Amino acid sequence: MADKITMQADGTLAVSDEPIIPYIEGDGTGVDIWPAAQKVLDAAAAKYSKRIVWKEVLAGEKAFNEVGDWLPQETVDVFREYLIGIKGPLTTPVGGGFRSLNVALRQLLDLYVCLRPVRWFEGVPSPVKRPDLVDMVIFRENTEDIYAGLEVQEGTPEAKRMIQLLHDEFGWDIRSDSGVGIKPVSETGSKRLVRAAVKYALNHGRKSVTIVHKGNIQKFTEGAFRNWGYEVVRDEFADVAVGWDDCDGKPGDKILVKDAIADITLQQVLTRPDEFDVIATTNLNGDYLSDALAAQVGGIGIAPGANINYVTGHGIFEATHGTAPKYAGLDKVNPGSVLLSGVMMFEHLGWTEAAADIVTAMEATIADKIVTYDFARQMQGATEVKTSEFASAIVDRL
Ligand code: NAP
Repeated sequence: MADKITMQADGTLAVSDEPIIPYIEGDGTGVDIWPAAQKVLDAAAAKYSKRIVWKEVLAGEKAFNEVGDWLPQETVDVFREYLIGIKGPLTTPVGGGFRSLNVALRQLLDLYVCLRPVRWFEGVPSPVKRPDLVDMVIFRENTEDIYAGLEVQEGTPEAKRMIQLLHDEFGWDIRSDSGVGIKPVSETGSKRLVRAAVKYALNHGRKSVTIVHKGNIQKFTEGAFRNWGYEVVRDEFADVAVGWDDCDGKPGDKILVKDAIADITLQQVLTRPDEFDVIATTNLNGDYLSDALAAQVGGIGIAPGANINYVTGHGIFEATHGTAPKYAGLDKVNPGSVLLSGVMMFEHLGWTEAAADIVTAMEATIADKIVTYDFARQMQGATEVKTSEFASAIVDRL
């Protein structure tokens, strides 16, 4: 019988063999990649006598065209009720009430972790020599930092008042023709993010967590994030994890928690990627890092992601690329990003065997050089196939 996924008292999810999972097909190429991904996910689940009862909810252009609303309240309510969902890419309405539908969903459900695993899949064309050394999981804080949207526009009465207030109350001189943004970073937000990263490292047999920050310059936001991170480790994980300074870099069999400045990190993930494992970072750093790392493993079209609140149990798994409107409806683009987001979702639900099967089958497909246009143009001797054909090839290899 079809069931809702629920949160249990011990903080784990209760998932039946027939969970109801809401999905947003996505705008643009969503019509191509979503059915392809669904087909593979269904086939992998069926191998283990499981069946997902998909429940479509509307957002983006499709919602606007059908019900006149970019993000209907019903969609938010359904995600709230069913806990776990998945989505394709959404058009950002230009000049509408939302800065971004994705940001709105994250904020409405307080999905405080943006989770981005970055690893290389055998055979995927990459711009670096050793993409196989990249195996990192990024925990990006999702609710604070300059993404909180607290900005005033240059020249407006609000900006003038803000600049005056900062002058009068703080003695700060800001040029009168400035826009001004506020960057909040809280103890609550920082600690829950680092807590989630350390727990993930623990549950997935990872060796280290690197706190990435710009604390050398932004001491009371980024620097505080770093300090609160180490505090969580000391206060809550002393039996299983240890900060670098507390062990001289020798953690024994505990998880090593270290920190690194964001700009150096962007160099070192290139030059010595094997020194990074789980990364915990603030919102803007995490945005840059996740895309830079995805490129390193050739994964811009296949990088998966998720937005999760580990306390309430809410999670939305999502394609990380945009709607690629020029390819919409052509059955052309790579469905890998939304498919691998589905794989992350399976792992999150405890369906680890079905998840692993999909990865193995996708690797076998790529090894056979059966790929969509984006990989085909970078590979020698590849057979270029359509989105739907790529999905069928994966299903054949499950
Ligand atoms: P985009 O849709 O990600 O497309 C940029 C380029 O990335 C495409 O032209 C294509 O490269 C490549 N690409 C994207 N998806 C691919 C796939 N599935 N397979 C292979 N290649 C893929 O970025 P955009 O053109 O800047 O944004 C378009 C719209 O998407 C905007 O409305 C934006 O706001 C929205 N957006 C949504 C999300 C989201 O919902 N998560 C994220 C980002 C942007 P080639 O041209 O080289 O083939």
